[in-house]
Amino acid sequence: MSNGAARSNNVLVVGGGVAGMQAALDVANQGYKVYLVEKAPSIGGRMAALDKTFPTLDCSACILTPRLSEVARHPNIELLTYSEVQSVEGSLGDFTVRVLRKARYVREDRCSGCGDCARECPVEVPNEFDEFLGFRKAIYVMFPQSTPNVYTIDAEHCIRCKRCERVCERGAIDFDMQDEIVELKVGVVVLSIGYKLFDVRQYPRLGYGHHRNVITAMEFERLINAAGPTKGHLIRLSDGRMPKRIGFIQCVGARDVKKGVPNCSRVCCMYGIKNAVMAREHYPDAEVTVYYADIRAFGKGFEEFYEMAKTRFGVKFIKGRVGEIVEDPETANLQFYVEDTLSGEILDVEHDMIVLCPGLQPAEDLDKLAEMLGLDTSTDGYIETRDAFAAPLETNHPGILVCGCADGPKDIPDSVTAGSAAAMKATILLSSGGAK
Ligand SMILES: Cc1cc2nc3c(=O)[nH]c(=O)nc-3n(C[C@H](O)[C@H](O)[C@H](O)COP(=O)(O)OP(=O)(O)OC[C@H]3O[C@@H](n4cnc5c(N)ncnc54)[C@H](O)[C@@H]3O)c2cc1C
Ligand code: SF4
Ligand code: SF4
Repeated sequence: MSNGAARSNNVLVVGGGVAGMQAALDVANQGYKVYLVEKAPSIGGRMAALDKTFPTLDCSACILTPRLSEVARHPNIELLTYSEVQSVEGSLGDFTVRVLRKARYVREDRCSGCGDCARECPVEVPNEFDEFLGFRKAIYVMFPQSTPNVYTIDAEHCIRCKRCERVCERGAIDFDMQDEIVELKVGVVVLSIGYKLFDVRQYPRLGYGHHRNVITAMEFERLINAAGPTKGHLIRLSDGRMPKRIGFIQCVGARDVKKGVPNCSRVCCMYGIKNAVMAREHYPDAEVTVYYADIRAFGKGFEEFYEMAKTRFGVKFIKGRVGEIVEDPETANLQFYVEDTLSGEILDVEHDMIVLCPGLQPAEDLDKLAEMLGLDTSTDGYIETRDAFAAPLETNHPGILVCGCADGPKDIPDSVTAGSAAAMKATILLSSGGAK
Protein backbone atom coordinates (compact mmCIF):
# COMPACT_ATOMS: atom_id res chain seq x y z
CA MET A 1 0.00 0.00 0.00
CA SER A 2 1.33 3.43 -0.82
CA ASN A 3 2.30 5.46 2.24
CA GLY A 4 0.12 8.44 3.01
CA ALA A 5 -2.07 7.99 -0.09
CA ALA A 6 -5.84 8.22 0.29
CA ARG A 7 -7.08 4.68 0.80
CA SER A 8 -10.10 3.58 -1.15
CA ASN A 9 -12.61 1.08 0.13
CA ASN A 10 -14.14 0.61 -3.31
CA VAL A 11 -13.82 -2.61 -5.28
CA LEU A 12 -13.47 -3.00 -9.03
CA VAL A 13 -14.84 -6.21 -10.54
CA VAL A 14 -13.78 -6.80 -14.16
CA GLY A 15 -16.15 -9.15 -16.00
CA GLY A 16 -19.88 -9.46 -15.32
CA GLY A 17 -20.44 -13.19 -15.81
CA VAL A 18 -21.90 -15.32 -13.07
CA ALA A 19 -18.63 -15.21 -11.06
CA GLY A 20 -18.20 -11.42 -11.31
CA MET A 21 -21.87 -10.79 -10.52
CA GLN A 22 -21.61 -12.93 -7.40
CA ALA A 23 -18.42 -11.17 -6.30
CA ALA A 24 -20.04 -7.76 -6.88
CA LEU A 25 -23.19 -8.66 -4.94
CA ASP A 26 -21.32 -10.15 -2.00
CA VAL A 27 -19.00 -7.13 -1.70
CA ALA A 28 -21.91 -4.70 -2.12
CA ASN A 29 -24.01 -6.51 0.49
CA GLN A 30 -21.26 -5.88 3.02
CA GLY A 31 -21.66 -2.14 2.47
CA TYR A 32 -18.76 -1.49 0.10
CA LYS A 33 -19.07 0.31 -3.20
CA VAL A 34 -18.44 -1.82 -6.31
CA TYR A 35 -17.72 -0.82 -9.88
CA LEU A 36 -18.62 -3.71 -12.17
CA VAL A 37 -16.95 -3.27 -15.56
CA GLU A 38 -18.29 -5.44 -18.38
CA LYS A 39 -17.03 -5.42 -21.95
CA ALA A 40 -20.32 -6.49 -23.54
CA PRO A 41 -23.47 -4.30 -23.64
CA SER A 42 -25.00 -6.51 -20.91
CA ILE A 43 -23.81 -8.46 -17.89
CA GLY A 44 -24.65 -12.19 -17.61
CA GLY A 45 -21.70 -13.79 -19.39
CA ARG A 46 -21.97 -17.19 -20.98
CA MET A 47 -24.74 -18.38 -18.67
CA ALA A 48 -27.18 -15.97 -20.30
CA ALA A 49 -26.92 -17.95 -23.54
CA LEU A 50 -27.36 -21.42 -22.03
CA ASP A 51 -30.62 -23.32 -22.15
CA LYS A 52 -30.65 -25.66 -19.12
CA THR A 53 -27.91 -26.28 -16.55
CA PHE A 54 -26.43 -29.56 -15.38
CA PRO A 55 -26.94 -31.53 -13.24
CA THR A 56 -30.43 -30.36 -12.26
CA LEU A 57 -31.61 -29.26 -15.72
CA ASP A 58 -32.87 -26.02 -14.23
CA CYS A 59 -33.57 -23.27 -16.75
CA SER A 60 -30.46 -21.11 -16.96
CA ALA A 61 -32.33 -17.84 -17.58
CA CYS A 62 -34.68 -18.54 -14.65
CA ILE A 63 -31.72 -18.72 -12.26
CA LEU A 64 -29.82 -15.85 -13.83
CA THR A 65 -32.57 -13.27 -14.39
CA PRO A 66 -33.28 -12.47 -10.70
CA ARG A 67 -29.53 -12.08 -10.16
CA LEU A 68 -29.27 -9.69 -13.10
CA SER A 69 -31.94 -7.44 -11.59
CA GLU A 70 -30.39 -7.73 -8.13
CA VAL A 71 -27.10 -6.41 -9.54
CA ALA A 72 -28.85 -3.66 -11.53
CA ARG A 73 -30.89 -2.47 -8.52
CA HIS A 74 -28.16 -2.67 -5.90
CA PRO A 75 -27.44 0.82 -4.52
CA ASN A 76 -23.76 -0.08 -3.93
CA ILE A 77 -23.09 -1.40 -7.43
CA GLU A 78 -22.27 0.92 -10.29
CA LEU A 79 -22.52 -0.91 -13.59
CA LEU A 80 -20.18 0.13 -16.38
CA THR A 81 -21.19 -2.03 -19.31
CA TYR A 82 -19.85 -1.74 -22.86
CA SER A 83 -16.65 -0.68 -21.10
CA GLU A 84 -13.06 -1.84 -20.85
CA VAL A 85 -10.24 -1.25 -18.43
CA GLN A 86 -7.49 0.80 -20.07
CA SER A 87 -4.96 1.04 -17.27
CA VAL A 88 -4.49 0.23 -13.61
CA GLU A 89 -1.88 1.95 -11.47
CA GLY A 90 -1.08 1.83 -7.78
CA SER A 91 -1.26 -0.86 -5.18
CA LEU A 92 -3.52 -2.53 -2.65
CA GLY A 93 -5.80 0.06 -1.08
CA ASP A 94 -4.95 2.72 -3.63
CA PHE A 95 -5.48 1.76 -7.27
CA THR A 96 -6.30 4.31 -9.98
CA VAL A 97 -8.17 2.69 -12.85
CA ARG A 98 -8.99 4.23 -16.21
CA VAL A 99 -12.01 2.73 -17.93
CA LEU A 100 -13.02 3.26 -21.54
CA ARG A 101 -16.79 3.68 -21.84
CA LYS A 102 -17.63 2.96 -25.46
CA ALA A 103 -20.30 5.12 -27.07
CA ARG A 104 -23.63 3.24 -27.31
CA TYR A 105 -25.23 6.16 -29.15
CA VAL A 106 -28.19 5.57 -26.84
CA ARG A 107 -28.43 7.43 -23.55
CA GLU A 108 -28.68 5.04 -20.60
CA ASP A 109 -30.52 7.65 -18.52
CA ARG A 110 -33.27 8.00 -21.12
CA CYS A 111 -33.70 4.59 -22.81
CA SER A 112 -36.61 2.55 -21.39
CA GLY A 113 -35.79 -0.57 -23.41
CA CYS A 114 -39.14 -0.39 -25.23
CA GLY A 115 -37.59 -1.64 -28.50
CA ASP A 116 -39.52 0.75 -30.80
CA CYS A 117 -36.20 1.75 -32.39
CA ALA A 118 -35.22 -1.83 -33.25
CA ARG A 119 -38.62 -2.52 -34.80
CA GLU A 120 -38.05 0.46 -37.09
CA CYS A 121 -34.39 -0.24 -37.92
CA PRO A 122 -33.97 -1.55 -41.51
CA VAL A 123 -30.57 -3.20 -40.94
CA GLU A 124 -30.30 -6.86 -39.95
CA VAL A 125 -27.01 -8.52 -39.08
CA PRO A 126 -26.13 -12.03 -37.87
CA ASN A 127 -26.60 -12.18 -34.11
CA GLU A 128 -23.42 -13.11 -32.21
CA PHE A 129 -25.48 -13.98 -29.11
CA ASP A 130 -27.21 -16.69 -31.19
CA GLU A 131 -23.84 -17.91 -32.49
CA PHE A 132 -24.68 -16.14 -35.77
CA LEU A 133 -27.62 -18.51 -36.41
CA GLY A 134 -30.20 -15.73 -36.13
CA PHE A 135 -30.36 -12.03 -36.82
CA ARG A 136 -30.54 -8.83 -34.82
CA LYS A 137 -30.99 -5.21 -35.80
CA ALA A 138 -28.21 -2.58 -35.92
CA ILE A 139 -29.78 -1.18 -32.73
CA TYR A 140 -30.20 -4.04 -30.32
CA VAL A 141 -30.14 -5.63 -26.88
CA MET A 142 -28.11 -8.83 -26.54
CA PHE A 143 -31.01 -10.87 -25.10
CA PRO A 144 -34.48 -10.08 -23.71
CA GLN A 145 -33.30 -9.74 -20.09
CA SER A 146 -30.23 -7.67 -21.00
CA THR A 147 -28.94 -5.68 -18.06
CA PRO A 148 -28.99 -2.74 -18.17
CA ASN A 149 -32.14 -2.78 -20.29
CA VAL A 150 -30.71 -0.26 -22.71
CA TYR A 151 -30.31 -0.54 -26.48
CA THR A 152 -26.95 -0.15 -28.22
CA ILE A 153 -26.21 0.99 -31.76
CA ASP A 154 -23.71 -1.21 -33.53
CA ALA A 155 -21.74 1.56 -35.24
CA GLU A 156 -20.09 -0.85 -37.68
CA HIS A 157 -23.40 -1.80 -39.31
CA CYS A 158 -25.57 1.28 -38.69
CA ILE A 159 -26.29 3.18 -41.92
CA ARG A 160 -27.27 6.37 -40.04
CA CYS A 161 -30.74 6.49 -41.58
CA LYS A 162 -31.91 7.94 -38.23
CA ARG A 163 -35.23 6.12 -38.26
CA CYS A 164 -34.55 5.04 -34.68
CA GLU A 165 -34.07 8.66 -33.64
CA ARG A 166 -37.37 9.67 -35.23
CA VAL A 167 -39.34 6.93 -33.51
CA CYS A 168 -37.77 7.15 -30.03
CA GLU A 169 -40.22 9.10 -27.90
CA ARG A 170 -37.73 9.52 -25.07
CA GLY A 171 -35.07 11.25 -27.13
CA ALA A 172 -32.59 8.58 -26.13
CA ILE A 173 -30.69 8.29 -29.41
CA ASP A 174 -27.58 10.44 -29.41
CA PHE A 175 -25.33 10.23 -32.48
CA ASP A 176 -23.00 12.83 -30.94
CA MET A 177 -22.08 10.50 -28.12
CA GLN A 178 -18.32 9.91 -27.88
CA ASP A 179 -16.21 7.23 -26.21
CA GLU A 180 -15.15 8.52 -22.82
CA ILE A 181 -12.57 7.66 -20.21
CA VAL A 182 -13.59 7.58 -16.57
CA GLU A 183 -11.15 7.38 -13.68
CA LEU A 184 -11.97 5.24 -10.66
CA LYS A 185 -10.29 4.92 -7.28
CA VAL A 186 -10.44 1.43 -5.81
CA GLY A 187 -8.71 -0.53 -3.08
CA VAL A 188 -9.04 -4.02 -4.56
CA VAL A 189 -9.48 -5.41 -8.08
CA VAL A 190 -11.27 -8.71 -8.82
CA LEU A 191 -10.71 -10.25 -12.24
CA SER A 192 -13.56 -12.43 -13.50
CA ILE A 193 -13.23 -12.28 -17.28
CA GLY A 194 -14.27 -15.89 -17.88
CA TYR A 195 -13.09 -17.98 -20.83
CA LYS A 196 -13.27 -18.42 -24.57
CA LEU A 197 -14.00 -21.66 -26.39
CA PHE A 198 -11.49 -23.68 -28.38
CA ASP A 199 -11.79 -22.99 -32.11
CA VAL A 200 -13.03 -26.34 -33.44
CA ARG A 201 -11.79 -25.45 -36.94
CA GLN A 202 -8.38 -26.49 -35.69
CA TYR A 203 -9.56 -30.08 -36.32
CA PRO A 204 -10.35 -29.93 -40.07
CA ARG A 205 -11.14 -33.69 -40.04
CA LEU A 206 -14.27 -32.97 -37.97
CA GLY A 207 -15.68 -30.87 -40.79
CA TYR A 208 -16.94 -27.83 -38.88
CA GLY A 209 -17.45 -24.93 -41.29
CA HIS A 210 -17.72 -27.33 -44.27
CA HIS A 211 -20.46 -29.75 -43.22
CA ARG A 212 -23.60 -27.77 -42.28
CA ASN A 213 -24.81 -30.40 -39.85
CA VAL A 214 -21.64 -30.35 -37.77
CA ILE A 215 -22.33 -27.74 -35.11
CA THR A 216 -20.79 -26.66 -31.81
CA ALA A 217 -22.25 -27.15 -28.35
CA MET A 218 -22.97 -23.40 -28.05
CA GLU A 219 -24.89 -23.52 -31.34
CA PHE A 220 -26.81 -26.49 -29.95
CA GLU A 221 -27.60 -24.48 -26.77
CA ARG A 222 -29.06 -21.67 -28.88
CA LEU A 223 -30.99 -24.06 -31.17
CA ILE A 224 -32.80 -25.76 -28.27
CA ASN A 225 -33.47 -22.47 -26.49
CA ALA A 226 -37.07 -21.22 -26.71
CA ALA A 227 -35.65 -17.66 -26.99
CA GLY A 228 -33.14 -18.75 -29.64
CA PRO A 229 -33.12 -18.36 -33.44
CA THR A 230 -35.41 -21.36 -34.09
CA LYS A 231 -37.61 -20.71 -31.02
CA GLY A 232 -36.35 -23.94 -29.50
CA HIS A 233 -36.79 -26.22 -32.53
CA LEU A 234 -33.79 -28.48 -32.87
CA ILE A 235 -33.28 -28.66 -36.62
CA ARG A 236 -30.53 -29.50 -39.08
CA LEU A 237 -28.93 -26.43 -40.58
CA SER A 238 -28.71 -28.03 -44.04
CA ASP A 239 -32.43 -28.61 -44.57
CA GLY A 240 -34.38 -27.62 -41.44
CA ARG A 241 -35.34 -31.25 -40.81
CA MET A 242 -35.47 -32.94 -37.43
CA PRO A 243 -32.25 -34.90 -36.78
CA LYS A 244 -32.98 -38.56 -35.97
CA ARG A 245 -29.43 -39.68 -35.14
CA ILE A 246 -27.42 -37.15 -33.14
CA GLY A 247 -23.80 -37.64 -32.11
CA PHE A 248 -21.85 -35.63 -29.51
CA ILE A 249 -18.06 -35.55 -29.68
CA GLN A 250 -16.27 -34.75 -26.43
CA CYS A 251 -12.84 -33.27 -25.71
CA VAL A 252 -12.55 -31.18 -28.89
CA GLY A 253 -9.56 -29.07 -27.94
CA ALA A 254 -9.02 -30.47 -24.47
CA ARG A 255 -6.46 -33.00 -23.25
CA ASP A 256 -4.60 -32.76 -26.56
CA VAL A 257 -0.92 -31.95 -26.18
CA LYS A 258 -0.51 -31.56 -29.96
CA LYS A 259 -3.01 -28.68 -29.94
CA GLY A 260 -1.32 -27.09 -26.94
CA VAL A 261 -4.19 -27.93 -24.56
CA PRO A 262 -3.00 -30.71 -22.27
CA ASN A 263 -5.51 -29.81 -19.57
CA CYS A 264 -9.03 -31.13 -19.01
CA SER A 265 -11.70 -28.45 -19.39
CA ARG A 266 -13.74 -29.85 -16.48
CA VAL A 267 -17.16 -28.84 -17.79
CA CYS A 268 -17.39 -30.36 -21.28
CA CYS A 269 -18.21 -33.93 -20.21
CA MET A 270 -21.11 -32.66 -18.17
CA TYR A 271 -22.42 -30.12 -20.67
CA GLY A 272 -22.11 -32.80 -23.39
CA ILE A 273 -24.14 -35.25 -21.31
CA LYS A 274 -26.65 -32.52 -20.47
CA ASN A 275 -27.15 -31.70 -24.14
CA ALA A 276 -27.44 -35.38 -25.06
CA VAL A 277 -30.24 -35.64 -22.48
CA MET A 278 -31.83 -32.49 -23.88
CA ALA A 279 -31.71 -33.98 -27.39
CA ARG A 280 -33.66 -37.00 -26.12
CA GLU A 281 -36.07 -34.70 -24.28
CA HIS A 282 -36.74 -32.88 -27.54
CA TYR A 283 -37.00 -36.00 -29.65
CA PRO A 284 -37.59 -39.14 -27.53
CA ASP A 285 -37.33 -41.29 -30.67
CA ALA A 286 -33.95 -39.89 -31.71
CA GLU A 287 -30.85 -42.06 -31.38
CA VAL A 288 -28.32 -40.10 -29.31
CA THR A 289 -24.69 -41.16 -28.93
CA VAL A 290 -21.82 -39.55 -27.01
CA TYR A 291 -18.27 -40.29 -28.23
CA TYR A 292 -15.86 -39.70 -25.36
CA ALA A 293 -12.27 -40.23 -24.24
CA ASP A 294 -13.10 -40.54 -20.53
CA ILE A 295 -16.17 -39.34 -18.67
CA ARG A 296 -15.24 -37.07 -15.80
CA ALA A 297 -18.36 -36.68 -13.69
CA PHE A 298 -16.68 -35.57 -10.49
CA GLY A 299 -19.09 -32.97 -9.02
CA LYS A 300 -22.02 -33.30 -6.68
CA GLY A 301 -24.81 -35.21 -8.41
CA PHE A 302 -22.77 -35.53 -11.62
CA GLU A 303 -22.21 -39.31 -11.63
CA GLU A 304 -25.91 -39.83 -10.90
CA PHE A 305 -26.73 -37.52 -13.81
CA TYR A 306 -24.45 -39.54 -16.09
CA GLU A 307 -26.15 -42.78 -15.00
CA MET A 308 -29.57 -41.20 -15.56
CA ALA A 309 -28.54 -40.18 -19.09
CA LYS A 310 -27.85 -43.85 -19.86
CA THR A 311 -30.69 -45.52 -18.00
CA ARG A 312 -33.61 -43.09 -18.04
CA PHE A 313 -32.85 -41.21 -21.25
CA GLY A 314 -31.28 -44.06 -23.23
CA VAL A 315 -28.22 -42.07 -24.36
CA LYS A 316 -25.55 -44.38 -25.82
CA PHE A 317 -21.91 -43.82 -24.79
CA ILE A 318 -18.98 -44.98 -26.92
CA LYS A 319 -15.40 -44.63 -25.71
CA GLY A 320 -13.21 -43.88 -28.69
CA ARG A 321 -11.65 -41.23 -30.90
CA VAL A 322 -13.61 -40.24 -33.97
CA GLY A 323 -11.87 -40.32 -37.38
CA GLU A 324 -12.53 -38.05 -40.35
CA ILE A 325 -16.14 -37.00 -40.74
CA VAL A 326 -17.40 -37.24 -44.32
CA GLU A 327 -20.57 -35.59 -45.55
CA ASP A 328 -22.90 -37.45 -47.90
CA PRO A 329 -23.42 -34.91 -50.73
CA GLU A 330 -27.04 -35.96 -51.27
CA THR A 331 -28.40 -36.26 -47.73
CA ALA A 332 -25.85 -34.06 -45.86
CA ASN A 333 -25.64 -36.93 -43.37
CA LEU A 334 -22.33 -37.45 -41.62
CA GLN A 335 -20.32 -40.64 -41.76
CA PHE A 336 -17.19 -41.71 -39.92
CA TYR A 337 -15.26 -44.60 -38.45
CA VAL A 338 -14.62 -44.82 -34.74
CA GLU A 339 -12.81 -47.45 -32.75
CA ASP A 340 -14.79 -48.53 -29.72
CA THR A 341 -11.77 -48.89 -27.44
CA LEU A 342 -13.70 -50.95 -24.87
CA SER A 343 -14.73 -53.66 -27.34
CA GLY A 344 -11.88 -53.16 -29.84
CA GLU A 345 -14.45 -52.99 -32.65
CA ILE A 346 -14.18 -50.51 -35.52
CA LEU A 347 -17.60 -48.96 -36.02
CA ASP A 348 -18.83 -47.43 -39.27
CA VAL A 349 -21.47 -44.91 -38.21
CA GLU A 350 -23.80 -42.34 -39.73
CA HIS A 351 -25.50 -39.37 -38.03
CA ASP A 352 -27.89 -36.63 -39.11
CA MET A 353 -26.24 -34.10 -36.81
CA ILE A 354 -22.91 -33.94 -34.96
CA VAL A 355 -22.34 -31.65 -31.99
CA LEU A 356 -18.72 -30.82 -31.17
CA CYS A 357 -18.05 -30.10 -27.49
CA PRO A 358 -15.06 -27.73 -27.37
CA GLY A 359 -12.79 -27.23 -24.42
CA LEU A 360 -12.45 -23.99 -22.49
CA GLN A 361 -9.47 -21.69 -23.00
CA PRO A 362 -8.17 -18.52 -21.34
CA ALA A 363 -10.33 -15.48 -22.19
CA GLU A 364 -9.45 -13.44 -25.25
CA ASP A 365 -8.25 -10.43 -23.21
CA LEU A 366 -6.40 -12.38 -20.58
CA ASP A 367 -2.89 -11.81 -21.95
CA LYS A 368 -3.53 -8.09 -22.40
CA LEU A 369 -4.90 -7.67 -18.88
CA ALA A 370 -2.18 -9.84 -17.33
CA GLU A 371 0.47 -7.68 -18.97
CA MET A 372 -1.26 -4.44 -17.96
CA LEU A 373 -1.54 -5.59 -14.36
CA GLY A 374 1.80 -7.38 -14.18
CA LEU A 375 0.16 -10.72 -13.40
CA ASP A 376 1.78 -14.12 -13.83
CA THR A 377 0.06 -16.69 -16.00
CA SER A 378 0.41 -20.45 -15.64
CA THR A 379 1.55 -22.92 -18.30
CA ASP A 380 -2.06 -23.46 -19.43
CA GLY A 381 -2.39 -19.69 -20.04
CA TYR A 382 -4.78 -18.84 -17.19
CA ILE A 383 -3.99 -16.36 -14.38
CA GLU A 384 -1.59 -17.96 -11.92
CA THR A 385 -2.73 -17.89 -8.32
CA ARG A 386 -0.25 -17.22 -5.55
CA ASP A 387 -0.71 -20.55 -3.78
CA ALA A 388 -3.20 -23.22 -4.86
CA PHE A 389 -3.80 -24.26 -1.25
CA ALA A 390 -3.27 -21.20 0.90
CA ALA A 391 -4.16 -18.35 -1.48
CA PRO A 392 -6.23 -19.75 -4.37
CA LEU A 393 -7.82 -16.38 -5.26
CA GLU A 394 -4.77 -14.16 -4.96
CA THR A 395 -2.50 -13.22 -7.82
CA ASN A 396 1.17 -12.26 -7.48
CA HIS A 397 0.00 -8.62 -7.27
CA PRO A 398 -1.33 -7.84 -3.76
CA GLY A 399 -4.87 -6.50 -3.97
CA ILE A 400 -5.65 -8.12 -7.33
CA LEU A 401 -7.83 -11.20 -6.94
CA VAL A 402 -9.15 -13.67 -9.49
CA CYS A 403 -12.30 -15.81 -9.64
CA GLY A 404 -14.52 -17.84 -11.97
CA CYS A 405 -12.89 -19.18 -15.14
CA ALA A 406 -10.20 -16.48 -15.23
CA ASP A 407 -7.82 -18.81 -13.38
CA GLY A 408 -9.05 -22.07 -14.91
CA PRO A 409 -12.18 -23.84 -16.19
CA LYS A 410 -15.04 -24.11 -13.71
CA ASP A 411 -18.71 -24.94 -13.82
CA ILE A 412 -21.36 -22.50 -12.63
CA PRO A 413 -21.53 -23.64 -8.98
CA ASP A 414 -17.74 -23.48 -8.65
CA SER A 415 -17.63 -20.07 -10.38
CA VAL A 416 -20.25 -18.73 -7.97
CA THR A 417 -18.35 -20.16 -5.00
CA ALA A 418 -15.15 -18.52 -6.24
CA GLY A 419 -17.02 -15.22 -6.74
CA SER A 420 -18.25 -15.29 -3.14
CA ALA A 421 -14.82 -16.24 -1.87
CA ALA A 422 -13.17 -13.41 -3.81
CA ALA A 423 -15.71 -10.97 -2.35
CA MET A 424 -14.90 -12.14 1.16
CA LYS A 425 -11.18 -11.88 0.50
CA ALA A 426 -11.61 -8.39 -0.96
CA THR A 427 -13.47 -7.08 2.08
CA ILE A 428 -10.99 -8.71 4.47
CA LEU A 429 -8.20 -6.90 2.63
CA LEU A 430 -10.07 -3.60 2.82
CA SER A 431 -11.13 -3.86 6.44
CA SER A 432 -7.75 -5.03 7.66
CA GLY A 433 -5.86 -2.35 5.80
CA GLY A 434 -4.24 -4.95 3.59
CA ALA A 435 -2.66 -6.92 6.40
CA LYS A 436 -4.29 -10.25 5.50
C1 LIG B 1 -21.76 -25.18 -24.18
C2 LIG B 1 -21.58 -24.91 -22.71
C3 LIG B 1 -22.56 -25.33 -21.82
C4 LIG B 1 -22.38 -25.13 -20.44
N1 LIG B 1 -23.33 -25.61 -19.59
C5 LIG B 1 -23.14 -25.50 -18.24
C6 LIG B 1 -24.10 -26.05 -17.34
O1 LIG B 1 -25.13 -26.59 -17.75
N2 LIG B 1 -23.84 -25.97 -16.00
C7 LIG B 1 -22.68 -25.40 -15.51
O2 LIG B 1 -22.49 -25.39 -14.29
N3 LIG B 1 -21.76 -24.84 -16.36
C8 LIG B 1 -21.98 -24.88 -17.71
N4 LIG B 1 -21.05 -24.32 -18.57
C9 LIG B 1 -19.91 -23.58 -17.99
C10 LIG B 1 -20.31 -22.11 -17.69
O3 LIG B 1 -20.44 -21.42 -18.90
C11 LIG B 1 -19.22 -21.45 -16.81
O4 LIG B 1 -19.11 -22.18 -15.61
C12 LIG B 1 -19.58 -20.02 -16.42
O5 LIG B 1 -20.02 -19.27 -17.52
C13 LIG B 1 -18.34 -19.34 -15.82
O6 LIG B 1 -18.65 -18.03 -15.42
P1 LIG B 1 -17.58 -16.84 -15.47
O7 LIG B 1 -18.25 -15.68 -14.84
O8 LIG B 1 -16.29 -17.29 -14.90
O9 LIG B 1 -17.29 -16.58 -17.01
P2 LIG B 1 -18.21 -16.03 -18.22
O10 LIG B 1 -19.58 -16.58 -18.17
O11 LIG B 1 -17.40 -16.30 -19.44
O12 LIG B 1 -18.28 -14.44 -17.97
C14 LIG B 1 -17.16 -13.62 -18.15
C15 LIG B 1 -17.62 -12.20 -18.43
O13 LIG B 1 -16.49 -11.34 -18.51
C16 LIG B 1 -16.65 -10.47 -19.62
N5 LIG B 1 -15.32 -10.02 -20.08
C17 LIG B 1 -14.42 -10.72 -20.82
N6 LIG B 1 -13.32 -9.97 -21.03
C18 LIG B 1 -13.54 -8.78 -20.41
C19 LIG B 1 -12.78 -7.58 -20.28
N7 LIG B 1 -11.58 -7.46 -20.83
N8 LIG B 1 -13.33 -6.56 -19.60
C20 LIG B 1 -14.56 -6.64 -19.06
N9 LIG B 1 -15.33 -7.76 -19.15
C21 LIG B 1 -14.82 -8.80 -19.81
C22 LIG B 1 -17.41 -11.31 -20.65
O14 LIG B 1 -18.05 -10.48 -21.61
C23 LIG B 1 -18.39 -12.05 -19.73
O15 LIG B 1 -19.56 -11.30 -19.52
C24 LIG B 1 -21.21 -24.49 -19.95
C25 LIG B 1 -20.23 -24.05 -20.85
C26 LIG B 1 -20.42 -24.26 -22.22
C27 LIG B 1 -19.36 -23.81 -23.17
S1 SF4 C 1 -33.66 4.00 -27.67
FE1 SF4 C 1 -35.73 4.85 -27.48
S2 SF4 C 1 -37.01 3.59 -28.81
FE2 SF4 C 1 -35.08 2.47 -28.46
S3 SF4 C 1 -35.51 1.15 -26.71
FE3 SF4 C 1 -34.61 3.02 -25.91
S4 SF4 C 1 -36.39 4.31 -25.42
FE4 SF4 C 1 -37.16 2.72 -26.76
S1 SF4 D 1 -29.73 4.95 -37.68
FE1 SF4 D 1 -28.73 2.97 -37.56
S2 SF4 D 1 -29.57 1.97 -35.74
FE2 SF4 D 1 -30.91 3.70 -36.26
S3 SF4 D 1 -32.54 2.79 -37.53
FE3 SF4 D 1 -30.95 3.55 -38.94
S4 SF4 D 1 -29.58 1.79 -39.25
FE4 SF4 D 1 -30.83 1.31 -37.46
